[in-house]
Amino acid sequence: MYNRRKFIKASALGASVLAVSAPGFANNPLSNDNHAPITGKPIVISTWDFGVAANQEAWKTLAKGGRALDAVEAGVKIPEADMHNHSVGRAGYPDRDGHVTLDACIMDEFGNCGAVAAIENIAHPISVARMVMEKTPHIMLAGDGATQFAIEHGFKKEKLLTSESEKAWKEWLKGKKYKPVINTENKLYKTELPGGKTNHDTIGMLAMDAHGNLSGACTTSGMAWKLHGRVGDSPIIGAGLYVDNEIGAATSTGVGEEVIRNVGSFLVVELMRHGYSPQDACKEAINRIIKKKPQTAKEIQVGFLAINKKGEYGAYAIQKGFSFAVCDAKKQDLLIDGPSFY
Ligand code: ASP
Repeated sequence: MYNRRKFIKASALGASVLAVSAPGFANNPLSNDNHAPITGKPIVISTWDFGVAANQEAWKTLAKGGRALDAVEAGVKIPEADMHNHSVGRAGYPDRDGHVTLDACIMDEFGNCGAVAAIENIAHPISVARMVMEKTPHIMLAGDGATQFAIEHGFKKEKLLTSESEKAWKEWLKGKKYKPVINTENKLYKTELPGGKTNHDTIGMLAMDAHGNLSGACTTSGMAWKLHGRVGDSPIIGAGLYVDNEIGAATSTGVGEEVIRNVGSFLVVELMRHGYSPQDACKEAINRIIKKKPQTAKEIQVGFLAINKKGEYGAYAIQKGFSFAVCDAKKQDLLIDGPSFY
């Protein structure tokens, strides 16, 4: 089990997080509308500090006895819609050529999954991913085809590039350093954007509902200033997200290339299958990344987050400073500075 005492750093949470009261089941006996026995204690976890607000939204579904799949979709739509969030959804930073391209995937308790990669002009890629899962025989749609599918299914075509993102991109263009970089939380390797903003950070969310079923969602605008057409780990089942309802679920954030190379989230779930705790599984997956490319690993950030069928969770990252949010009937925490390699 994750050692909470070690990682809660209240001073860094900010008043808004601390002020949130624990969501409970008051006046809300769990309904059993999907006729499965109620066995689990619902819980939702997600990456980074924006996971707190996302978890709160997901909790509304979980607290009513709703399905984990509905919870994670509703939850990650919060950062997708947040105009101040430049690494997920509609206000995301663009690629090198000024296009905002979004990646997302979703997976349910039956092993069903859907994804969109490099989709443009659609503010909620996670809902398109779910529609790919539910309305097509396919798993992933990419680029123009994904946008076309979304429009055909009633999504609004919108300009996603905000003036703030455009300004940051133009600022970056001035330097003419056409090398997309990803910041890490480690001060030693920190790369700053105008205003000190991060140029990455995906929301990966994992939930277990009252029926003990697991689902996950992962959505991002990916690496800022990436090459047009670049797709990261986040929409790739097994890399950015994996759910096995018998064992557990995992998701990732950070430099997608290194996660893909190691099929990270699938690896974490497989390690849990072989008896690893969620945290040890995340740690071993990080170790594999470091072992394969030790020099690269020193300068990048990758973090994994995992949950098992008992509702135990854990996280591990290459660099210090990886935060994740946890919400259940008793608590709503942001855990940071978890154990990290460096
Ligand atoms: N994993 C994302 C990507 O590489 C970015 C991130 O989470 O920081 O696209």
